[in-house]
Amino acid sequence: MVIHSKMAAAGQQTYATIALPFALARGKFTEYATAQGLPVEVEDDISLIRFQRGVVQVSGDAAQTRLDISAESAAALQLLRDTLAERMAALHIPVVWEVQTGKTRPANLSLAKVVEVARLSPSYVRVAVQGPDLARFADGGLHFRLLFGPKDAGWPFINESGVTQWPGGDKAWHRPVYTVREITCDTDGSARISFDIFLHDGGRVTAWSRSVTLGDEVALTGPNGGRVDHKAGWQLLIGDETAVPVVARKLAALPENTKGKAVLFVPDAADIQALACPACMTVHWVLRDERETPLATLHAEPLPATDRFVFFAAERAEAVAARGYLAEHGLSRDEFHSAAYWTAPTSDAP
Ligand SMILES: Cc1cc2nc3c(=O)[nH]c(=O)nc-3n(C[C@H](O)[C@H](O)[C@H](O)COP(=O)(O)OP(=O)(O)OC[C@H]3O[C@@H](n4cnc5c(N)ncnc54)[C@H](O)[C@@H]3O)c2cc1C
Repeated sequence: MVIHSKMAAAGQQTYATIALPFALARGKFTEYATAQGLPVEVEDDISLIRFQRGVVQVSGDAAQTRLDISAESAAALQLLRDTLAERMAALHIPVVWEVQTGKTRPANLSLAKVVEVARLSPSYVRVAVQGPDLARFADGGLHFRLLFGPKDAGWPFINESGVTQWPGGDKAWHRPVYTVREITCDTDGSARISFDIFLHDGGRVTAWSRSVTLGDEVALTGPNGGRVDHKAGWQLLIGDETAVPVVARKLAALPENTKGKAVLFVPDAADIQALACPACMTVHWVLRDERETPLATLHAEPLPATDRFVFFAAERAEAVAARGYLAEHGLSRDEFHSAAYWTAPTSDAP
């Protein structure tokens, strides 16, 4: 098989082969990438799929297909390998991965100890964790996943193909996403991460925050998700209770000459925090009993014609509606990001 080298140089690489003719595999990968909104570059003899932090090159012949995978970090490579392994398993396509030796823990998984649990305000608890390799969460995405598995199952590990194995099965794991609110790194790669948990009825993390004790071991995967978007001179940031931490991070990182507005929703006046932000931006807090919603706020905001960026994060139905609204109002894909931060139970759910 011919091995191409059209991928941009990146930090970490691996490869896999699948017993599927290239023409057929290419179609399946293009379909998958299109459904995920990932850019695909198609040439005669290869396809390149660009993920957020890595690239997959698909090449091959009439007998088999080769996937050359490169990513900006070992953690990003692990995520990409696990994503592709999951996709291939769903399609019942056997994959032969480059053999991994000497590693047992997924490169994107860190173990840490709980070092602080503090009630920040009526609706938030701040938890701080400390771990020997948490410094990588300072870059490469603002978010991480907390891992909660079946009782006494042990932590996830990798098999000899380097693919993450979930004791008790991956469906048995709860992996909610949280935002790194603060991170303090040491020169040896260790770090302390603080994150703010919005307390809500029925929340498994809410329950955990009430029972966790100092010294408990936790597992985090990541970093995940976007970085701060600095490009636009005008920014509108709208977030519900779960997005207060991310909007706080974004506001603090924006260049000082950025103009615009942040609108944040909290249940209680005592949940309002003083947030660092550029001098020409304003921060509005909406109390939930005022009956305003993140989506209604978006509809009411005038948007400039150029040099603009809108960030919207809230419940799934609102995030989907916001995405449609912004696209209909002429914003291009790189002028907005609308994210579902949680999903309300559907009215017909049992
Ligand atoms: C990129 C990203 C970053 C995030 N950052 C944070 C963060 O920093 N802090 C934070 O608190 N959350 C954050 N979230 C949201 C968090 O992941 C979800 O709220 C998650 O469901 C919490 O898990 P849980 O175990 O508490 O609730 P689950 O066990 O998943 O859900 C239990 C029940 O609670 C409901 N529920 C879930 N979230 C809410 C909510 N916010 N309000 C009301 N009901 C809810 C569900 O519909 C379900 O019925 C983030 C989400 C994303 C995608």
